Amino acid sequence: MITIIGAGPIGNYTAKLLAKQGHKVKVFEDHKEVGKPIQCTGITTAFLQDLIKIKKEFMVNTITRTKVYSPNQEAVEIPLKKNFVVDRTLFDQSLAEEAKSEGVEYAVGHKYTHCVQKEKITAHFTNGKKVESDYLIGADGPLSAVAKSNDLYGKRTFIIGHQARVKIDCEKDLVDFFLGEGYFGWLVPETEKIARIGICSLSTPKKYFDSLMKKRKGKILEWQSGIIPLYNPKLQAEKDNIYLIGDAATQVKATTLGGIIPGMLAAQSLGKAISEGKSYQKLWKKGIGKELKTHLLIHSLMQKFKNKDYDRLIQLVKQERVKNAITEHDREFPSKLLLKLLLREPRFLQYTKFLF
Ligand SMILES: Cc1cc2nc3c(=O)[nH]c(=O)nc-3n(C[C@H](O)[C@H](O)[C@H](O)COP(=O)(O)OP(=O)(O)OC[C@H]3O[C@@H](n4cnc5c(N)ncnc54)[C@H](O)[C@@H]3O)c2cc1C
Repeated sequence: MITIIGAGPIGNYTAKLLAKQGHKVKVFEDHKEVGKPIQCTGITTAFLQDLIKIKKEFMVNTITRTKVYSPNQEAVEIPLKKNFVVDRTLFDQSLAEEAKSEGVEYAVGHKYTHCVQKEKITAHFTNGKKVESDYLIGADGPLSAVAKSNDLYGKRTFIIGHQARVKIDCEKDLVDFFLGEGYFGWLVPETEKIARIGICSLSTPKKYFDSLMKKRKGKILEWQSGIIPLYNPKLQAEKDNIYLIGDAATQVKATTLGGIIPGMLAAQSLGKAISEGKSYQKLWKKGIGKELKTHLLIHSLMQKFKNKDYDRLIQLVKQERVKNAITEHDREFPSKLLLKLLLREPRFLQYTKFLF
C-alpha cells in the first residue's frame, strides 16, 4: 500500500502511474476540494501531450507566439510550438478522476502532520486519523510537511509568484514576458478580454506587479498568488521508503518557474523506482534533474544581468537563425537548446562572464 500526501497535479499523476502498475494507492489532501485554490498560471509546453491526454474540459487557451521585452522595452517576437493554458482546478480534478479510474482512493480534508516508521510507515493527520502503508510519498507542495517531518526539507529558497486574473484587451494567442520585472513578469491570455498577469521575485512583489500594471492597464478580477521553490540540486528526495516529488522536492524549472511537467517526469522515475526496486534519487537526477540543473545555471546567470545585458540579449535573439532554434526546441529541455544557440550565435558566449 502506498500513501500519497497532496492531491496537486503531481500527487494525482503519481497516484495514477503507481495504480496502473498494480499498487494499492491512497491520496490524502488537506483541502476540502481538489484543485482549489488556484495559485498558478497554468501554461505548459506542448510536451504535456506526450504525458497525458489533453482534454477539452480543462483547456482554456492555446498559445502560438511569445513576445519578450527587456526593461528598456526592446522586444522580440518568437513563434512557439503550441503551448497549452489550463484551468488548474479542472486540470487537477481531471488528473484525480483518471487516478480514481485506476482504483486510487482519495480522502480530502486530511492534513498530514508526521509519520512513525517501524516495519510499516504510519502517517498521522490533524483529525486524529492514522494510516499505515509500505511507502509514503510527499507531493504536498513547496512547504512539504512530509519533507519537514522526515529531515528531508534541506535548504529552500522561495520565489513569490504574484498573479491576478485581469480584465484587459490582449491578443489571444500571444504570451508576453517582461524580463527584469522582479525576475520576470508575464501576461498569459485566457481570451481576448481576460489574462493572467503576474511577476515573480524574491521580495517586494507588489512593487513589481504595480509597475507592470502601469504599462498594461486592466481591472483585477481575482488574485492567484503563491510561492515557488527554487530548484535545490543538493536536495535529498528519498529516505528509506519515503519520497518527495514535485514542488515538495523543488523540481521546478528555475528559468520559467514551471513545475507541472518536471514533476510529472519525476513521477515516471518514482514509478520505475518503486516497481523495479531502484533508487528514485538516482533515476530522477539522471533524468529531469540534469535539465533542472541547466535551468538553474541560466537563472543564476540572468540574476547578474543589468538592463543593457537584457537589451543585447534581445538583439541577439532577433536573428532568424536564433529564433528558429528557440521555436524548434522545447523549453523543458534547455541543454540541447543552449548548445544549438552557441553554434548558431557564438556571441551568446559573452554571458559566460557572469559565471565567474
Ligand atoms: C503564481 C504561480 C504561477 C505558476 N505558473 C506556472 C505555470 O504557468 N506552469 C507551471 O508548470 N507551473 C507553474 N507554477 C508552479 C506550479 O504551480 C507548481 O509547480 C505545481 O503546482 C506543483 O504541483 P505539486 O502537485 O507538486 O504541488 P501543489 O500544486 O502545491 O499541490 C500540493 C497539494 O498538497 C496539499 N497539501 C499541502 N500540505 C499538505 C498536508 N500537510 N497534508 C495534506 N495535503 C497537503 C495542498 O493542499 C495541495 O493540494 C506556478 C506557481 C505559482 C505560485
